[in-house]
Amino acid sequence: MSIERADQAAVKAADRAHVFHSWSAQAHLDPLPVQRAAGSSFWDYDGNRYLDFASQLVNANIGHQHPKVVAAIQEQAATLCTVAPGFAVDVRSEAARLVAERTPGDLDKIFFTNGGAEAVENAARMARLHTGRPKLLSAYRSYHGATGTAINLTGDPRRWASDTGTAGVVHFHGPYLYRSPFHATTEREECERALAHLEETIVLEGPDTVAAVVLETIPGGSGILLPPPGYLPGVRAICDRYGIVMVLDEVMAGFGRAGRWFALDHYLDQDTAPDLVTFAKGVNSGYVPLGGVAISAAIAADWDERPYPGGLTYSGHPLACAAAVATLGAMAEEGIVEHAAHIGETVLGPGLRALAERHPSIGEVRGTGVFWALELVRDRETREPLVPYRPRGDEGRPTAELAAACKRRGLWPLVAGNRLHVVPPCTIDAAEVEEGLAILDEALAVADAHTTA
Ligand code: PLP
Repeated sequence: MSIERADQAAVKAADRAHVFHSWSAQAHLDPLPVQRAAGSSFWDYDGNRYLDFASQLVNANIGHQHPKVVAAIQEQAATLCTVAPGFAVDVRSEAARLVAERTPGDLDKIFFTNGGAEAVENAARMARLHTGRPKLLSAYRSYHGATGTAINLTGDPRRWASDTGTAGVVHFHGPYLYRSPFHATTEREECERALAHLEETIVLEGPDTVAAVVLETIPGGSGILLPPPGYLPGVRAICDRYGIVMVLDEVMAGFGRAGRWFALDHYLDQDTAPDLVTFAKGVNSGYVPLGGVAISAAIAADWDERPYPGGLTYSGHPLACAAAVATLGAMAEEGIVEHAAHIGETVLGPGLRALAERHPSIGEVRGTGVFWALELVRDRETREPLVPYRPRGDEGRPTAELAAACKRRGLWPLVAGNRLHVVPPCTIDAAEVEEGLAILDEALAVADAHTTA
C-alpha cells in the first residue's frame, strides 16, 4: 500500500482538528504522523526512520509487525472477530492457559481486561471483596493506570489532578537507594528500613482495614527502581502476617521486559508468590488491546458459588487473545525472553555504564533486560535532578532538549521526569543497540550542558 505525501497533511490536519490526546495540552501538540513500522524501528511519511528506544509506551516487546502475530490476527479476523465473554473460545482458553503456565504458585485463573488500568481496578475489587477491608496501600513512586482506583493508587504526579476519590488509598515509600527516603547507604539497609516503614504504615493504618498492598514488581514509569533482593519476599511475609492480599503489577515489567517472563521471577519463588498479578502491554505487545489479572486459587474460589461482580464487554476479545497466543508462542520459540536478558547483560547495560563515564549528567544507571533508566542530574555530588519532580513552565527544558536531540538523530526516546528510560523491544539486536547508544552519546551533550560540571 502506498500512501501519497499529500495524505500526510490530511492525517495531521484531522488529528489536530479532532483527536484529543492523552496527558497533553492540546494547543501545543505536534504529533509525528507515522506511516509504518518493522522490528525495532518505525518510519514517518518522509521516509525518516526512528529506532524505537521506547517500544511505543513500553509495550512493543516483540518488536513491530512480528509476522507470526500479524498472521494470527488476520486469521482470527477471518474466522471470528468478536464474541461475548460468556462463550468458550479456543484462542481465549489458550491465551489464559499460556499466561497461567507462566505465573507462579497457584495463580491459575485469568480474568481478561482491555488494558492495564482495568486489570488494576479488578485486582483492587477482588482484594477488597476477598478481605472485606476497605484500604489499599501503594508506593509514591508508582504508576498503575488512569482510571478511578488505578489513578488513586498511582503515586507519581499523574495522580494529582485526579486525586478526588482517594478514600481508602494510602501511599508509602518503596526502596530507592539513590534517593533513599530512609537515609540508607547500602541496599541491605534500604531493604530493612523500607520493610519496617511498610509494616509501620500498616500498623498505624490498622491492619484490619488494609485489603491489599499493590506494588509494581519493578516500578517502571517512576524510574525503573529495581528493589533490593529481599524486599518483595519481605513484603510477602508482612502481607501474610496481617492477612493482606499482595498484588504485583507486572503491566510494564512483565513478558520479557525485565529479562524474565515476569519480573517477579527475579525475586520470588513458588512459595512466596503474590496473590494477584496484573498484566497487559507485553502479553501481546499491544497489537490489540489486552490486559488481565492472574488470580490465586484461594481468591478465585470466592466466586465459585456466587457471581463475580465485574465484567467487560470485550473481556478476552478474540483478536487480542489470538495476538497473545501468537506472541507468547513466538517469544518461547525464538528465545526472546532469554535474548532480552542476554542483550541487557552483554551490550545494553555495559554500553549505558560506559556512557555514564563520559557524561556528567548521568547520576545513576540502573536496569535489567531491556528495562533501563539513566537518572539525569545537574550535579553528581548533590544529586540535584536535571529537572524538578514536577517540572513547570520552562523547568522541563533540559530533558525536552535532550528528547529533541535524540529525535533529530533518528532515535525515539522515552523521557520521564529527570530520567531517560531506555526500553527498546526485547528483540533488538546488538547492532541496533550500538546504533542507539552512539546516538545517545551525541545527544547527551545537550543534558551535560545543563550540569554544573
Ligand atoms: N500499571 C503499570 C505498571 C503501567 O506501567 C501502566 C501503564 O503504563 C498501567 C498499569 C496502565 O496500563 P494501561 O495504560 O494499559 O491502562
